[in-house]
Amino acid sequence: MKIKISSLSEGRHFYKLDATVEELELPVEFFGKVKVQVLLEKTKDHILLRVTLNVHRHCECDRCLRKYDREFLNEYHMFYIHDISNKHLYDEDVVTVIRKDQDYIDISNDVRDYAMLAIPMKNLCKDDCKGLCPKCGADLNFEKCTCEIEKVDPRWLTLKELLKQ
Ligand SMILES: [Zn+2]
Ligand SMILES: [Zn+2]
Repeated sequence: MKIKISSLSEGRHFYKLDATVEELELPVEFFGKVKVQVLLEKTKDHILLRVTLNVHRHCECDRCLRKYDREFLNEYHMFYIHDISNKHLYDEDVVTVIRKDQDYIDISNDVRDYAMLAIPMKNLCKDDCKGLCPKCGADLNFEKCTCEIEKVDPRWLTLKELLKQ
């Protein structure tokens, strides 16, 4: 995923790019194309990219183990500068020094990293997924079982969920 920056005028430029998950070397749970929108702003000091990306991933619900596919969004920005002595003017996570004669900015690595960061720690098929019965394994979203479900004090729920992981 490259953006040509040689002979680019100062001001704003807009790009739409895409690449397959294989091209970006994303893990196998990802599928299809990663679509990226880039707003580029060039000044005499730097090039600023504001990047929005969407990506599709095969997921498995942490509660009911159902498999589902979902689209995830993420966005980030990155400054590109030529003069390393100006680097301290920027937050170090969002600045990249490039050579003066560099013709392209390759955003593949950043897009891959931010695609991975778009995935939440907790995967739920829906926010109120009822999960599986811990005794008989019935999917409580679809059926009621006759097992006695222990009553959980709601104050302990977070701790209990944490212990499950
Ligand atoms: Zn679920
Ligand atoms: Zn049950």
